Amino acid sequence: MPHPNDPKLRSFVPVDPASHFPIQNLPYGVFSARDGLAPRVGVAIGDHVLDLWELAQDCRFDLVEPAVFAASSLNPFMALGPQVWSKTRARISELLRADHPELRDNDDLRKRALVPMKDVKLHLPITVSGYTDFYASKEHATNVGVMFRGKDNALQPNWLHMPIGYNGRASTVVVSGTRVRRPRGQLKPPNVELPSFGPCKRLDFELEMGVVVGQPSKMGEMLTEQQAEAMIFGFVILNDWSARDIQQWEYVPLGPFQAKAFATSISPWVVTREALEPFRLNGPEQAPAPLPYLRQTKPNNYDIELEVDLRAGEMNEAKIICQTNFKYMYWSSVQQLVHHASSGCAMNVGDLLGSGTISGPEKHQRGSLLEISWNGTEPADLGGGVKRSFLEDGDSLQMSGWCQGDGYRVGFGAVEGTIAPAE
Ligand code: CA
Repeated sequence: MPHPNDPKLRSFVPVDPASHFPIQNLPYGVFSARDGLAPRVGVAIGDHVLDLWELAQDCRFDLVEPAVFAASSLNPFMALGPQVWSKTRARISELLRADHPELRDNDDLRKRALVPMKDVKLHLPITVSGYTDFYASKEHATNVGVMFRGKDNALQPNWLHMPIGYNGRASTVVVSGTRVRRPRGQLKPPNVELPSFGPCKRLDFELEMGVVVGQPSKMGEMLTEQQAEAMIFGFVILNDWSARDIQQWEYVPLGPFQAKAFATSISPWVVTREALEPFRLNGPEQAPAPLPYLRQTKPNNYDIELEVDLRAGEMNEAKIICQTNFKYMYWSSVQQLVHHASSGCAMNVGDLLGSGTISGPEKHQRGSLLEISWNGTEPADLGGGVKRSFLEDGDSLQMSGWCQGDGYRVGFGAVEGTIAPAE
């Protein structure tokens, strides 16, 4: 049987070369269709969703019970482990192949199992157990450091020795398309003596990738590089919405709290680690060498093109405000997971790890408005006289990402969010 990542594979389902969802991808999501049935598990293929529950009902999988795909989250499937993930993906690939007649020639099953994507509603794909956000781009950390502490103290002394992170909120992780209400909080601009409570005035986004952890680890036990990698089910694009003015006042000494707790948006399709395998590469050189527990023996970064589009409320069309790549991240997702468990912290099925804002070395590669507008001093020009230092009510922000193969794209789709006014 050909490997599901084989670039030569073609599906009987038509897939445009620009589509994010060729047969080489097969990302998992949770959808509901017009049939009125409860949300269930599907896989994206071109402009269609393959209904895995329908296929399982028809006894097309040996290893997975239909109930697993009838769930409204991927957690039960993820809990089955990497061998089942890999074998299921290979089976789905076989069922969709142009040269495999099983589904292609079964009119009844094909009609039930392939749903046009325009007819489905996509849901939050995982039940988020815990959400941790890192700070792993050297360019982003340096930009922010220069703005707030000056060039000579840009990176804190610990930054080059470990992936810095904080525990975020799982309760407010939402799927693409969910409106984001402008948060309220304590504000105290530097020139004012006492804080006040009100709507955030410096609302920002952060372009990140999210790691979906598909296997647990035991409390008290550390992870090796290999163990951590095997626990990663897949990746999504993640927007870590940030209230800069709330953050500035509250973050001393324990880090972000309300400034980040109000919303985090993720893309609906989880692209598996296996589908990203052909796009692996080495990250930036790490100097000084990390401590032994964080050392890597293989390339753990990925070549993922990322783009951010902003449509101000008064504009008809979105404008690209950032184009960067996941490959620039200093600390890899594997290192983040190893570090996360290193104290003895147990990891759970459904944990979500934000990579940290992804900025590159160039100006057009900055992954937040804080950096793009350089803390409001250089507003982004969106054309037609529209400028933005931070997000206004009615603004819509979209992030997308993909790996470019030879003649095909393994993509993530997009994560979108529109800003609603504060109450
Ligand atoms: Ca962040």
